[in-house]
Amino acid sequence: MVDHAGTGRGARAPGGPGDGPAGDPAGHHQQPARRAGAQGPRRQDARPRGPACGKTVPFRTGAGAARSGAETGTWPAARGTGQPGAGAPGTAERRPARAVVQHRGDRRRLRPGAPALHHVSESGENMNDGEHDQRRKDDAIVRRAAGAPDGKEREGSRRKDDTPRYLNPGDSIFSLWGRVIKARYQRIAAAATRHVLQRPLRIGISARIFHPEAGATGLRSKNLQYLEESIAQWVMSRDVLVFMIPTVNTDGLLHPSNIRLRDYARHLDGLVLQGGADVSPQSYAETPTRPEWSGDRARDMYELELLHEFVEAGKPVLGICRGCQLINVAFGGTLYQDIATDVPTAMPHVHDDYDRHRHEIVFPADSSLAKLFGQRLGGVVNSIHHQAVKTLGRDMQVEAMSVPDGVVEAIRYRKAPFVMGLQWHPEFHRAGGEELLDCTGILDNFLRVARETRF
Ligand code: MN
Repeated sequence: MVDHAGTGRGARAPGGPGDGPAGDPAGHHQQPARRAGAQGPRRQDARPRGPACGKTVPFRTGAGAARSGAETGTWPAARGTGQPGAGAPGTAERRPARAVVQHRGDRRRLRPGAPALHHVSESGENMNDGEHDQRRKDDAIVRRAAGAPDGKEREGSRRKDDTPRYLNPGDSIFSLWGRVIKARYQRIAAAATRHVLQRPLRIGISARIFHPEAGATGLRSKNLQYLEESIAQWVMSRDVLVFMIPTVNTDGLLHPSNIRLRDYARHLDGLVLQGGADVSPQSYAETPTRPEWSGDRARDMYELELLHEFVEAGKPVLGICRGCQLINVAFGGTLYQDIATDVPTAMPHVHDDYDRHRHEIVFPADSSLAKLFGQRLGGVVNSIHHQAVKTLGRDMQVEAMSVPDGVVEAIRYRKAPFVMGLQWHPEFHRAGGEELLDCTGILDNFLRVARETRF
């Protein structure tokens, strides 16, 4: 529409219709009397009046003009006619302060009755009257098509009393600038908040540990810490960043460091405990019944500390398979060292065909999983383990059991927003077939708590 700054005398394209004499150094210009006369009767305010008959009046500049709001160009000839007293210098000087605001940078707005002589469109192109009218009609059609109020309602940037609509009654330059600064501040604050809230979640996954094999060479002679790919990809499928948390060794002689597992709990938003080797019976005050069931005590120590730090920080923890058993042990529970030996009535929970073994589970009526899955009372899961929860840790609740042998398949710590262990492998379910339980809802609950507790 009408360009704000461009209608000032300095910005006019020279030689355009209605411009003053070409090259007029003082910025004088002449208004045609024809249009001005048509607008004249409405202009009965206290503005200073120019001489009659379309004479040219120079712009007033300087402090007096700015104060009085009289920094205007030529006034249409007919405005002053028949208005006794109008245009007296004293009248202009008494104009309220808002007039000062009115004429900043927009002289065309200051003179709404002035003829539409020359326009600069929003895109900067010059338009003559006809083009401008056509553009306004086009705009109105577009507004109506978009369901916006009819163009007529938006016509005019001024109220009946000739104040611009962006000013409130009684506004001063200070209150206007106050609003501008407040709006700027709100915009910056909103952008900053958005930036923080949209930061992707950062989820830590505990490391699987490969201990050096006796007599091995090369990589197998080293201590390896690694992720199983499916668990990382399952967590990442909800658009979060995944970090494997390595073990820390603060008193290492070669690479001393002040980083502790507590620092990971501080800077990450949630923890996933991966599956892997057996939990050592030592961790729940038992001795291994068989040497091959002695588990991985080193990994227990590392993961128990990690779990403690995340729970302490109030952040969510999701344990998978071994992670489920570890959570139970961390809260004082115990495990069957071997299901087949300790629970003769149980069905097989382990199979040579590692991620193909599956069985049914049910959710107890008072469990959070029963609430989450609603109508579904249970499902088929991919569950591979030879240890299982024997006695529950303190404040732990059973969330799922296998059918029909009743082996514990999921647990939850009641005193934290989200600390849950699943005995099965939800990360294998998508590849395993449609009959397997879709556990995305559990992951989403975990991530929701991570989002809520990260500040
Ligand atoms: Mn099982």
